[in-house]
Amino acid sequence: MKTIYNFNAGPSILPKEVFEEASQAILNFNNTGLSILELGHRTDTFQAVVDEAVALVKELMKLDDRHEVLFLHGGASTQFFQVPMNLLNDNEVAAYTDTGVWSSKAIKEGRLYGHVEVVCSGKESGYHALPKQFNVPKTAKYLHLTTNNTIHGTQWQDLQLFYDAGVPLVADMSSDILSRVVDFNQFDLIYAGAQKNVGAAGVNMVVVNPEILGKVDRKLPTMMDYRNHIENGSLLNTPPVFAFYICMLTLRWLKRQGGVAAIEKINNEKAALLYDTIDSLPAFKGTAAREDRSKMNVSFVIEDPALEKEFLTLCKENGMVGVKGHRSVGGFRVSLYNAMSLQGVQALTSLMTDFAKKKG
Ligand SMILES: *Cc1c(COP(=O)(O)O)cnc(C)c1O
Repeated sequence: MKTIYNFNAGPSILPKEVFEEASQAILNFNNTGLSILELGHRTDTFQAVVDEAVALVKELMKLDDRHEVLFLHGGASTQFFQVPMNLLNDNEVAAYTDTGVWSSKAIKEGRLYGHVEVVCSGKESGYHALPKQFNVPKTAKYLHLTTNNTIHGTQWQDLQLFYDAGVPLVADMSSDILSRVVDFNQFDLIYAGAQKNVGAAGVNMVVVNPEILGKVDRKLPTMMDYRNHIENGSLLNTPPVFAFYICMLTLRWLKRQGGVAAIEKINNEKAALLYDTIDSLPAFKGTAAREDRSKMNVSFVIEDPALEKEFLTLCKENGMVGVKGHRSVGGFRVSLYNAMSLQGVQALTSLMTDFAKKKG
Protein backbone atom coordinates (compact mmCIF):
# COMPACT_ATOMS: atom_id res chain seq x y z
CA MET A 1 0.00 0.00 0.00
CA LYS A 2 1.20 3.49 -0.86
CA THR A 3 2.20 5.72 2.08
CA ILE A 4 -0.48 8.19 3.08
CA TYR A 5 0.42 11.39 4.90
CA ASN A 6 -2.53 12.61 6.89
CA PHE A 7 -2.53 16.38 7.48
CA ASN A 8 -6.22 16.56 8.45
CA ALA A 9 -7.24 19.13 11.08
CA GLY A 10 -9.55 16.82 13.00
CA PRO A 11 -10.35 14.03 13.35
CA SER A 12 -6.72 13.61 12.54
CA ILE A 13 -3.67 11.43 12.51
CA LEU A 14 -2.98 9.18 15.50
CA PRO A 15 0.06 6.99 16.11
CA LYS A 16 0.10 3.81 14.07
CA GLU A 17 0.73 1.77 17.24
CA VAL A 18 -2.54 3.10 18.63
CA PHE A 19 -4.46 1.86 15.59
CA GLU A 20 -2.81 -1.54 15.86
CA GLU A 21 -3.48 -1.95 19.58
CA ALA A 22 -7.03 -0.66 19.19
CA SER A 23 -7.83 -3.05 16.36
CA GLN A 24 -6.58 -5.94 18.48
CA ALA A 25 -8.71 -4.72 21.39
CA ILE A 26 -11.80 -4.81 19.19
CA LEU A 27 -11.26 -8.54 18.71
CA ASN A 28 -9.96 -9.54 22.12
CA PHE A 29 -9.33 -6.97 24.79
CA ASN A 30 -6.44 -7.83 27.13
CA ASN A 31 -7.11 -11.55 26.72
CA THR A 32 -10.55 -11.26 28.26
CA GLY A 33 -12.07 -12.99 25.22
CA LEU A 34 -14.28 -9.92 24.93
CA SER A 35 -14.16 -6.98 22.57
CA ILE A 36 -13.56 -3.54 24.10
CA LEU A 37 -16.85 -2.66 22.36
CA GLU A 38 -18.88 -5.10 24.44
CA LEU A 39 -17.20 -4.58 27.77
CA GLY A 40 -19.22 -3.16 30.68
CA HIS A 41 -18.04 0.28 31.70
CA ARG A 42 -18.31 -0.65 35.39
CA THR A 43 -16.01 -3.64 35.16
CA ASP A 44 -12.59 -3.70 36.80
CA THR A 45 -11.13 -4.16 33.33
CA PHE A 46 -12.51 -0.85 32.10
CA GLN A 47 -11.87 0.91 35.41
CA ALA A 48 -8.19 0.16 34.84
CA VAL A 49 -8.38 2.04 31.52
CA VAL A 50 -9.99 5.05 33.22
CA ASP A 51 -7.46 5.06 36.05
CA GLU A 52 -4.51 4.82 33.68
CA ALA A 53 -5.82 7.58 31.39
CA VAL A 54 -6.35 9.94 34.32
CA ALA A 55 -2.95 9.12 35.83
CA LEU A 56 -1.23 9.69 32.48
CA VAL A 57 -2.87 13.08 32.02
CA LYS A 58 -1.79 14.13 35.52
CA GLU A 59 1.74 12.94 34.88
CA LEU A 60 2.14 14.34 31.36
CA MET A 61 0.65 17.72 32.30
CA LYS A 62 2.45 17.77 35.67
CA LEU A 63 -0.80 18.66 37.41
CA ASP A 64 -0.91 19.52 41.07
CA ASP A 65 -3.30 17.79 43.48
CA ARG A 66 -5.98 20.44 43.12
CA HIS A 67 -6.81 19.57 39.54
CA GLU A 68 -9.29 16.89 38.52
CA VAL A 69 -9.21 15.13 35.16
CA LEU A 70 -12.47 14.24 33.43
CA PHE A 71 -13.41 12.57 30.18
CA LEU A 72 -16.86 13.77 29.08
CA HIS A 73 -19.21 13.54 26.14
CA GLY A 74 -20.15 16.17 23.63
CA GLY A 75 -17.00 17.51 22.05
CA ALA A 76 -15.42 20.87 22.75
CA SER A 77 -18.59 22.58 21.51
CA THR A 78 -20.45 21.32 24.58
CA GLN A 79 -17.82 22.96 26.76
CA PHE A 80 -18.63 26.28 25.08
CA PHE A 81 -21.86 26.32 27.12
CA GLN A 82 -21.04 23.95 29.97
CA VAL A 83 -18.30 26.32 31.14
CA PRO A 84 -20.46 29.46 31.55
CA MET A 85 -23.38 27.37 32.82
CA ASN A 86 -21.18 26.21 35.72
CA LEU A 87 -19.13 29.34 36.33
CA LEU A 88 -21.15 32.42 35.46
CA ASN A 89 -24.27 33.90 37.04
CA ASP A 90 -26.72 35.91 34.89
CA ASN A 91 -25.57 39.19 36.40
CA GLU A 92 -21.84 38.46 36.33
CA VAL A 93 -19.11 39.22 33.82
CA ALA A 94 -16.79 36.82 32.01
CA ALA A 95 -13.90 38.05 29.87
CA TYR A 96 -13.32 36.41 26.47
CA THR A 97 -10.59 36.77 23.88
CA ASP A 98 -11.89 36.68 20.31
CA THR A 99 -9.22 35.08 18.16
CA GLY A 100 -11.02 33.00 15.58
CA VAL A 101 -13.97 30.88 14.60
CA TRP A 102 -13.92 28.67 17.70
CA SER A 103 -13.53 31.47 20.20
CA SER A 104 -16.41 33.33 18.53
CA LYS A 105 -18.55 30.27 19.09
CA ALA A 106 -17.50 30.13 22.74
CA ILE A 107 -18.45 33.81 23.10
CA LYS A 108 -21.87 33.21 21.58
CA GLU A 109 -22.62 30.46 24.10
CA GLY A 110 -21.19 32.46 27.00
CA ARG A 111 -23.73 35.21 26.28
CA LEU A 112 -26.55 32.75 26.99
CA TYR A 113 -25.53 32.63 30.66
CA GLY A 114 -24.18 36.04 31.66
CA HIS A 115 -22.38 39.17 30.52
CA VAL A 116 -19.53 38.52 28.15
CA GLU A 117 -16.91 41.20 27.79
CA VAL A 118 -14.79 40.67 24.72
CA VAL A 119 -11.47 42.08 25.95
CA CYS A 120 -9.66 41.83 22.62
CA SER A 121 -10.38 40.73 19.09
CA GLY A 122 -8.42 39.69 16.04
CA LYS A 123 -11.44 40.14 13.82
CA GLU A 124 -10.11 43.25 12.07
CA SER A 125 -7.04 41.39 10.90
CA GLY A 126 -9.28 38.62 9.55
CA TYR A 127 -8.04 36.59 12.54
CA HIS A 128 -4.62 36.27 10.91
CA ALA A 129 -2.98 37.98 13.88
CA LEU A 130 -3.55 37.83 17.61
CA PRO A 131 -4.40 40.99 19.54
CA LYS A 132 -1.50 41.86 21.84
CA GLN A 133 -3.10 44.00 24.49
CA PHE A 134 -6.13 43.71 26.69
CA ASN A 135 -7.49 44.71 30.04
CA VAL A 136 -9.42 42.21 32.08
CA PRO A 137 -11.93 43.62 34.55
CA LYS A 138 -11.02 42.48 38.06
CA THR A 139 -14.66 41.50 38.57
CA ALA A 140 -14.56 38.94 35.73
CA LYS A 141 -15.41 35.46 36.97
CA TYR A 142 -12.93 34.07 34.46
CA LEU A 143 -10.93 34.85 31.34
CA HIS A 144 -11.45 32.53 28.38
CA LEU A 145 -8.84 31.96 25.69
CA THR A 146 -8.31 29.63 22.77
CA THR A 147 -4.65 28.66 22.92
CA ASN A 148 -4.45 27.57 19.28
CA ASN A 149 -6.74 28.75 16.50
CA THR A 150 -7.14 25.67 14.36
CA ILE A 151 -8.75 27.32 11.35
CA HIS A 152 -6.61 30.45 10.91
CA GLY A 153 -3.40 28.90 12.14
CA THR A 154 -2.48 31.24 14.97
CA GLN A 155 -1.34 30.26 18.45
CA TRP A 156 -0.59 32.23 21.61
CA GLN A 157 3.16 31.78 22.01
CA ASP A 158 3.52 33.53 25.33
CA LEU A 159 0.89 32.64 27.89
CA GLN A 160 2.40 34.83 30.61
CA LEU A 161 0.02 37.58 29.53
CA PHE A 162 -2.81 35.39 30.75
CA TYR A 163 -1.13 34.15 33.92
CA ASP A 164 -0.83 37.80 34.96
CA ALA A 165 -4.50 38.58 34.35
CA GLY A 166 -5.44 38.02 37.98
CA VAL A 167 -8.67 36.12 37.34
CA PRO A 168 -9.37 32.37 36.92
CA LEU A 169 -8.28 31.12 33.51
CA VAL A 170 -10.35 28.92 31.21
CA ALA A 171 -8.80 27.61 28.01
CA ASP A 172 -9.96 25.77 24.95
CA MET A 173 -6.83 23.76 24.11
CA SER A 174 -8.49 21.42 21.62
CA SER A 175 -5.85 21.73 18.93
CA ASP A 176 -2.61 22.11 20.86
CA ILE A 177 -3.06 20.28 24.13
CA LEU A 178 -0.02 18.17 25.08
CA SER A 179 1.93 19.51 22.09
CA ARG A 180 4.13 21.92 24.06
CA VAL A 181 5.18 22.59 27.61
CA VAL A 182 2.65 24.82 29.32
CA ASP A 183 2.23 25.56 33.01
CA PHE A 184 -1.13 23.81 33.07
CA ASN A 185 -1.57 24.50 36.78
CA GLN A 186 -2.11 28.17 35.96
CA PHE A 187 -5.49 27.24 34.51
CA ASP A 188 -8.65 26.59 36.48
CA LEU A 189 -10.37 24.86 33.61
CA ILE A 190 -8.94 23.37 30.42
CA TYR A 191 -10.97 21.56 27.82
CA ALA A 192 -10.10 19.82 24.59
CA GLY A 193 -12.04 17.75 22.10
CA ALA A 194 -9.94 14.60 21.91
CA GLN A 195 -9.96 14.19 18.14
CA LYS A 196 -6.98 16.46 17.45
CA ASN A 197 -4.12 15.56 19.72
CA VAL A 198 -5.46 13.19 22.38
CA GLY A 199 -7.43 10.43 20.72
CA ALA A 200 -10.63 9.67 18.87
CA ALA A 201 -13.73 11.79 18.34
CA GLY A 202 -16.53 11.39 20.87
CA VAL A 203 -14.79 12.38 24.06
CA ASN A 204 -13.65 15.58 25.67
CA MET A 205 -10.83 15.98 28.09
CA VAL A 206 -11.51 18.43 30.90
CA VAL A 207 -9.06 19.48 33.61
CA VAL A 208 -10.69 21.47 36.36
CA ASN A 209 -9.86 23.00 39.69
CA PRO A 210 -12.97 22.18 41.79
CA GLU A 211 -12.54 25.35 43.87
CA ILE A 212 -14.20 27.36 41.09
CA LEU A 213 -17.31 25.14 41.02
CA GLY A 214 -20.58 25.35 42.95
CA LYS A 215 -20.82 29.13 42.91
CA VAL A 216 -23.69 29.72 40.49
CA ASP A 217 -27.33 30.14 41.50
CA ARG A 218 -28.97 28.38 38.59
CA LYS A 219 -30.10 24.77 38.63
CA LEU A 220 -27.76 22.56 36.66
CA PRO A 221 -28.86 19.43 34.83
CA THR A 222 -27.14 16.44 36.45
CA MET A 223 -25.07 15.68 33.35
CA MET A 224 -23.95 19.31 33.04
CA ASP A 225 -22.63 19.73 36.57
CA TYR A 226 -18.88 19.03 36.60
CA ARG A 227 -19.09 18.13 40.30
CA ASN A 228 -21.18 15.07 39.52
CA HIS A 229 -18.60 13.87 37.04
CA ILE A 230 -15.80 14.42 39.52
CA GLU A 231 -17.71 12.50 42.18
CA ASN A 232 -18.29 9.62 39.78
CA GLY A 233 -14.83 9.53 38.23
CA SER A 234 -16.10 10.23 34.70
CA LEU A 235 -18.51 7.29 35.02
CA LEU A 236 -21.70 9.19 35.84
CA ASN A 237 -23.32 7.41 32.92
CA THR A 238 -21.95 5.22 30.14
CA PRO A 239 -18.87 7.01 28.82
CA PRO A 240 -17.79 6.76 25.18
CA VAL A 241 -15.85 3.62 26.09
CA PHE A 242 -13.92 3.13 22.87
CA ALA A 243 -12.95 6.78 22.44
CA PHE A 244 -11.85 6.83 26.08
CA TYR A 245 -9.67 3.78 25.44
CA ILE A 246 -8.08 5.38 22.36
CA CYS A 247 -7.16 8.40 24.50
CA MET A 248 -5.47 6.13 27.02
CA LEU A 249 -3.45 4.44 24.26
CA THR A 250 -2.44 7.78 22.76
CA LEU A 251 -1.39 9.11 26.17
CA ARG A 252 0.67 5.96 26.72
CA TRP A 253 2.32 6.50 23.34
CA LEU A 254 3.11 10.10 24.25
CA LYS A 255 4.76 8.98 27.46
CA ARG A 256 6.86 6.47 25.49
CA GLN A 257 8.02 9.34 23.24
CA GLY A 258 9.40 11.06 26.33
CA GLY A 259 6.39 13.18 27.23
CA VAL A 260 5.40 16.73 26.35
CA ALA A 261 8.89 18.30 26.36
CA ALA A 262 10.19 15.63 23.97
CA ILE A 263 7.25 15.93 21.58
CA GLU A 264 7.52 19.72 21.68
CA LYS A 265 11.06 19.49 20.37
CA ILE A 266 9.91 17.45 17.37
CA ASN A 267 6.87 19.69 16.86
CA ASN A 268 9.19 22.71 16.75
CA GLU A 269 11.37 21.05 14.13
CA LYS A 270 8.36 20.10 12.01
CA ALA A 271 6.88 23.60 12.12
CA ALA A 272 10.26 25.26 11.45
CA LEU A 273 10.82 23.07 8.40
CA LEU A 274 7.42 23.83 6.91
CA TYR A 275 7.49 27.58 7.63
CA ASP A 276 11.06 27.88 6.33
CA THR A 277 9.96 26.15 3.14
CA ILE A 278 6.98 28.46 2.71
CA ASP A 279 9.14 31.54 3.35
CA SER A 280 11.88 30.43 0.98
CA LEU A 281 9.59 29.75 -1.97
CA PRO A 282 8.09 32.82 -3.65
CA ALA A 283 5.22 30.69 -4.95
CA PHE A 284 3.83 30.20 -1.43
CA LYS A 285 2.85 32.64 1.27
CA GLY A 286 2.00 32.08 4.92
CA THR A 287 -1.22 33.76 6.04
CA ALA A 288 -0.73 34.05 9.80
CA ALA A 289 1.29 36.88 11.37
CA ARG A 290 4.82 35.58 11.88
CA GLU A 291 4.95 36.01 15.64
CA ASP A 292 1.61 34.23 16.03
CA ARG A 293 2.25 31.28 13.75
CA SER A 294 0.76 28.04 14.99
CA LYS A 295 3.00 25.01 15.30
CA MET A 296 -0.02 22.75 14.94
CA ASN A 297 -1.95 24.19 12.00
CA VAL A 298 0.01 25.90 9.26
CA SER A 299 -2.06 28.07 6.92
CA PHE A 300 -0.73 29.32 3.60
CA VAL A 301 -1.75 30.23 0.05
CA ILE A 302 -0.29 30.02 -3.43
CA GLU A 303 0.46 33.43 -4.89
CA ASP A 304 -0.99 32.46 -8.27
CA PRO A 305 -4.53 31.22 -7.57
CA ALA A 306 -4.58 29.38 -10.91
CA LEU A 307 -2.03 26.95 -9.43
CA GLU A 308 -4.05 26.10 -6.35
CA LYS A 309 -5.96 23.24 -7.92
CA GLU A 310 -2.85 21.90 -9.56
CA PHE A 311 -1.01 21.75 -6.25
CA LEU A 312 -3.93 20.01 -4.57
CA THR A 313 -3.98 17.39 -7.31
CA LEU A 314 -0.26 16.86 -6.89
CA CYS A 315 -0.74 16.38 -3.15
CA LYS A 316 -3.46 13.85 -3.82
CA GLU A 317 -1.28 11.91 -6.26
CA ASN A 318 1.44 11.74 -3.64
CA GLY A 319 -0.74 10.53 -0.82
CA MET A 320 -0.94 13.87 1.01
CA VAL A 321 -4.36 14.08 2.60
CA GLY A 322 -6.10 17.02 4.32
CA VAL A 323 -4.04 19.84 2.84
CA LYS A 324 -6.96 21.98 1.71
CA GLY A 325 -7.74 25.02 3.88
CA HIS A 326 -10.92 25.29 5.94
CA ARG A 327 -13.95 26.15 3.82
CA SER A 328 -14.25 29.55 5.54
CA VAL A 329 -10.63 30.55 4.77
CA GLY A 330 -9.50 28.80 1.57
CA GLY A 331 -5.90 28.16 0.54
CA PHE A 332 -4.10 25.42 2.39
CA ARG A 333 -3.88 24.25 5.94
CA VAL A 334 -1.50 21.56 7.06
CA SER A 335 -1.94 20.12 10.53
CA LEU A 336 1.16 18.90 12.33
CA TYR A 337 -0.26 17.19 15.40
CA ASN A 338 1.91 15.06 17.69
CA ALA A 339 1.50 11.88 15.66
CA MET A 340 2.77 13.46 12.41
CA SER A 341 6.40 12.54 11.92
CA LEU A 342 9.19 14.85 10.80
CA GLN A 343 9.59 12.54 7.82
CA GLY A 344 5.95 13.22 6.81
CA VAL A 345 6.65 16.96 6.83
CA GLN A 346 9.84 16.40 4.82
CA ALA A 347 7.81 14.56 2.18
CA LEU A 348 5.46 17.52 1.90
CA THR A 349 8.18 20.18 1.81
CA SER A 350 10.08 18.39 -0.96
CA LEU A 351 6.87 18.20 -2.95
CA MET A 352 6.36 21.95 -2.44
CA THR A 353 9.94 22.72 -3.44
CA ASP A 354 9.74 20.62 -6.61
CA PHE A 355 6.41 22.17 -7.51
CA ALA A 356 7.67 25.73 -7.00
CA LYS A 357 10.78 25.04 -9.11
CA LYS A 358 8.75 23.61 -11.96
CA LYS A 359 6.44 26.59 -11.94
CA GLY A 360 9.41 28.94 -12.00
C1 LIG B 1 -12.14 21.43 16.67
C2 LIG B 1 -12.23 22.49 17.67
C3 LIG B 1 -13.40 22.71 18.43
C4 LIG B 1 -14.67 21.93 18.20
O1 LIG B 1 -14.57 20.65 18.65
P1 LIG B 1 -15.82 19.64 18.62
O2 LIG B 1 -15.30 18.50 19.42
O3 LIG B 1 -16.11 19.33 17.19
O4 LIG B 1 -16.97 20.31 19.27
C5 LIG B 1 -13.37 23.69 19.39
N1 LIG B 1 -12.28 24.44 19.60
C6 LIG B 1 -11.15 24.28 18.89
C7 LIG B 1 -9.96 25.13 19.18
C8 LIG B 1 -11.10 23.30 17.90
O5 LIG B 1 -9.98 23.14 17.19
